[in-house]
Amino acid sequence: MTTDSKLEGQCLCGTVTVRIVPPDPHVDACHCRMCQRWGGSALLSLRMVTDPDITGTEHIGRYASSDWAERGFCRQCGTHLFFFYKPKASYSFTAGLFGGAADFTMTEEIFIDEKPGYYDFAGERERLTGPEVMAKFGVGNS
Ligand SMILES: [Zn+2]
Ligand SMILES: [Zn+2]
Repeated sequence: MTTDSKLEGQCLCGTVTVRIVPPDPHVDACHCRMCQRWGGSALLSLRMVTDPDITGTEHIGRYASSDWAERGFCRQCGTHLFFFYKPKASYSFTAGLFGGAADFTMTEEIFIDEKPGYYDFAGERERLTGPEVMAKFGVGNS
């Protein structure tokens, strides 16, 4: 898959569909406690995009998980769709929505210090603790 082609995804029930042009073919993992609680485990998501083409928006629930972020889900089937970062109006969609992301590589793991002991992702990549994330990006977990 080339990086400038559109990636198409959908929720479990198909009510919400998403088309994006991913900035690069990478997946990042967040191990923070909020992501674990939200999805049951680490959140695997794509890089931020600002102009997603979404259908079924009226069926999307948005939970304000902090002052600066919302987490979107399908109200029909409960599929977790995105993390929305309000200061930049940008979306990070969950990787599992997109069959075409199967060949993407995992580039970064964040909040590694909040990861439980019962899983690890294989391979070598950058792994940042919560304080390192805040120093690098100027944001906390949300
Ligand atoms: Zn759905
Ligand atoms: Zn997280």
